[in-house]
Amino acid sequence: MSRNVISFNYTLKDKAGQVLDQSQPNQPLTYLEGSNTIIQGLETGLSKLNVGDMEEIIVRPENGYGFRDESQVDVISRSQLPVEEISVGDYFQAGNDAHAPVVQVVKIDGDNVTLDANHPLAGVDLFFSVELVGKREATEEELSHGHAHTEGGCCGGHDNGGCGCH
Ligand code: ZN
Repeated sequence: MSRNVISFNYTLKDKAGQVLDQSQPNQPLTYLEGSNTIIQGLETGLSKLNVGDMEEIIVRPENGYGFRDESQVDVISRSQLPVEEISVGDYFQAGNDAHAPVVQVVKIDGDNVTLDANHPLAGVDLFFSVELVGKREATEEELSHGHAHTEGGCCGGHDNGGCGCH
């Protein structure tokens, strides 16, 4: 079964119309279909488009970043944190390995620091405006690596600590 490599530009807004994220001009996001690179709801919407199509894709939490889980919110003592200076809104990784969850500081009360390990977009309805700019069949090499190759070749030539294909 063949799979495609898709490139698209996007702007992501929330329900209120505030821009949460967007691709940079002339730097579309490229992914291999079925590689879990992008959220499911977005991939499903993009799979129906052809090159040049522009579309609004609404992704609900169940097809996006999931729902908030309040058991992922924890209060710890400041001395347990790996850093000296912290502020509300800071993110850091809860552990040393590359796949450790990212947590956000949501409250500081004296020595008590409240950390939230939920994805910042958990529970949020996502409003994508997308433009499909590229669609081609994946190469054998891409299929065996499980990701898309861009102009720079494997891993796009950019710094990549997580790529296991070398
Ligand atoms: Zn590769």
